[in-house]
Amino acid sequence: MDRIDIENGLFETLEQMPVIDCHEHMFPEKVRLETPVDAVTFFCHYNRFDLVVAGMKPPKDPWAPVIPADIPFEKRWKMIKPYLPLIRHTSYAKAAFMSLKKFYGFDDFNDATVKPITEAMRKANKKGIYDRVFDACNIKLALTQCASTRLNHKRMVPVMPLRFETDTWELLSRQEAWFGKVKINTLDDLLAGIDKYVGRVKKEGAVGMKMVINPYGEPDRKAAEELFNKLKRGEEKVLRYPNALRDYVADEAVKAAEKHGLVIAVHTGYWGDLRLMDPLHLIPFLVRHPDARFDVYHLGFPWVRQCIQLARNYPNVWLNLAWNAIVSEKVHLQAVDELIDQIPSNKILAFGGDYAVPVEKIWGHLTIARRNFAKVFAGRIADGDMTEKQAVIVLKKWLYDNPIALYGLKNRI
Ligand SMILES: [Zn+2]
Repeated sequence: MDRIDIENGLFETLEQMPVIDCHEHMFPEKVRLETPVDAVTFFCHYNRFDLVVAGMKPPKDPWAPVIPADIPFEKRWKMIKPYLPLIRHTSYAKAAFMSLKKFYGFDDFNDATVKPITEAMRKANKKGIYDRVFDACNIKLALTQCASTRLNHKRMVPVMPLRFETDTWELLSRQEAWFGKVKINTLDDLLAGIDKYVGRVKKEGAVGMKMVINPYGEPDRKAAEELFNKLKRGEEKVLRYPNALRDYVADEAVKAAEKHGLVIAVHTGYWGDLRLMDPLHLIPFLVRHPDARFDVYHLGFPWVRQCIQLARNYPNVWLNLAWNAIVSEKVHLQAVDELIDQIPSNKILAFGGDYAVPVEKIWGHLTIARRNFAKVFAGRIADGDMTEKQAVIVLKKWLYDNPIALYGLKNRI
């Protein structure tokens, strides 16, 4: 059999293989149903950042489901139309176009199609839309982050933000919404609040706590306490980064997640000031918490090779390929090959869509990822490096077994 036949066969096998979607920002389905979706909704979320880079005037709220919500559809379509051909071949756009075809049967967004697309989307925007997308993708569970544990869907499992607000006294002392009734007068009160919050969300079904990588200093309790008291007395109004209070509290928050047996999910890589997002900033945490389990997101894009070394050096690291196949399809393709070379097969979580409102795009994203998996593994098989059976065992671990094992999801399926 030649390589292309092996690839096509593997792709078909992948379509049948169950998937645990390891990262979404989906809200309870009710929120999606109440959103006035239209053809432009396909270009909210990541695509809109491409549109802005291409020259579109930045919308006020870059995450709003339409661009922007308070002006009529025709005007919004006019806003994005000149820039659409410019972003047409990005990986973000590819997922949008593929999903448009899959769910609504249209090949393109243009003056003739955007109205019928909008009508078709509104017709389909009813109860069960999440299940329709999950079924099309063969997704059994989706780990989702929308800062709530009340997801009201049997296939959605919450991951919650690991909160450690320390910038101002106002922020630090008023965290009732998260911590409940904890009066914060001392540094220990703050830590008790974090512990209580983590314990509560675990009881409510959360399986992981999410933080964002940044440069953090070594934790120093004495220096942290001094800053805490200065904030409390009003001698400091706003603490600038980096500071000893944030460094210490972040480390204690990681300890709390570990104590409650929750995975610590970490965003690494490209976003905003990416100098702060280098995955290697995680190393001190990995060293200090050898028994905690860190799910490191996005292969630290663009520091993909550096990020892979984290999993190679520290047994407490899992690598989560959420978002990667649409950040760059080709970097993802190359990374998949390099991961096989370097990382034991039980440490990879191979897919996360990373969408909020335009859930249809999960299918396009997953299809790009599956095509890359099929290409890479077919290459290995064609070269005689592995059998098809071995490839399928590894891929099933990546897409299904590993997330179940890491996040303890067995009894949720
Ligand atoms: Zn995300």
